[in-house]
Amino acid sequence: MRAATLLRAPGPLEICDITIDDPRGREVLVRTVAAGLCHSDYHVMEGRIARPLPTVLGHESAGVVEAVGPDVTSVKVGDHVVCCLSVFCGNCRRCLGGETWLCDDKAATARPPGAPPRLSLDGRAVTPFSHVGGFAEYILVHENGTVAVPGSLPFDRAALLGCGVITGVGAALNSAQVKPGSSAVIVGCGGIGLNAVQGCVLAGAARIIAVDRVPAKLELARTFGATHVVDAAGGDAVAAVKELTGGGVDYAFEAIGTAATVEAAFAMLRRGGTAYVIGVLPEGSRIRLDGLDFLASKGIQGVYMGSNHFKLDLPTYVEWYLQGRLRLDELISAHLPLDAINDGYAALARGEVARSVIMFD
Ligand SMILES: [Zn+2]
Ligand SMILES: [Zn+2]
Repeated sequence: MRAATLLRAPGPLEICDITIDDPRGREVLVRTVAAGLCHSDYHVMEGRIARPLPTVLGHESAGVVEAVGPDVTSVKVGDHVVCCLSVFCGNCRRCLGGETWLCDDKAATARPPGAPPRLSLDGRAVTPFSHVGGFAEYILVHENGTVAVPGSLPFDRAALLGCGVITGVGAALNSAQVKPGSSAVIVGCGGIGLNAVQGCVLAGAARIIAVDRVPAKLELARTFGATHVVDAAGGDAVAAVKELTGGGVDYAFEAIGTAATVEAAFAMLRRGGTAYVIGVLPEGSRIRLDGLDFLASKGIQGVYMGSNHFKLDLPTYVEWYLQGRLRLDELISAHLPLDAINDGYAALARGEVARSVIMFD
């Protein structure tokens, strides 16, 4: 099968002829229809996040179940499914405590050592990135990394649910548990930030301030429900947010992944407010905070995958979308064939797009 593969980092993706095994045990073989381009893959391409190579990138994909292993019970052949990298074992302390997105034993959902690899290239094992490997014509995953969705949901919209939507909306609803009537700022209005904006809308926040340097993204943030926008290119964004809220916000969401924007998000808080870092910072990043701010009860919290229970959250999000309460259409800025994937990442790197989606034939 054709798959966008990273052979060396930093480096571009190459379309390779990858061999995919048949499903065993609790594995599901998915015929990919749509795959979203997420920033995390780009970090790996750029060598900022080290992963075993070669790897088939992509972790935000939707498709149709083509075949299942003998022990699969949660999905069946013909189901439309979304693949999520928050695959969970169901038996570790984190899973048993309800924190499946922090599963400590994802290895239990992979093939055991010594077994033939799920993916290979000329006889050599290939790692499916984030247990998915979504930029490929087929995906072989554990059933705990899939969830069935209604056939009425278009595949390109479905794909985005698996990472961008669940991360941004989940940050507001699950991680921060934003309260009705509260104030929030979202720093960075790419795909994740826009979803954090609509998560705050769904939570009933009264004041939702979007901060970005690109005017078009601020306009998009307004359509997603931002009540105020601040152009960070036009001056001191921290001062502007403090003025808009009479001293700072209850919740600050950082959705870019730089030390400077994390520090800015923290500085936008009121006394007792909490900053949530959704953006992926490169390894070795250091954040500088003023120690006195902890006396003001300000908090900072990392967020991973929107603290999701995707098998529960995703069907809810689908209902909200079909009811017109969750925006997905506006997140998609381009559809691309697999061959154009490097162009798609170049546009993402330039900050031009909300989300590009690869469509398979
Ligand atoms: Zn992602
Ligand atoms: Zn687990």
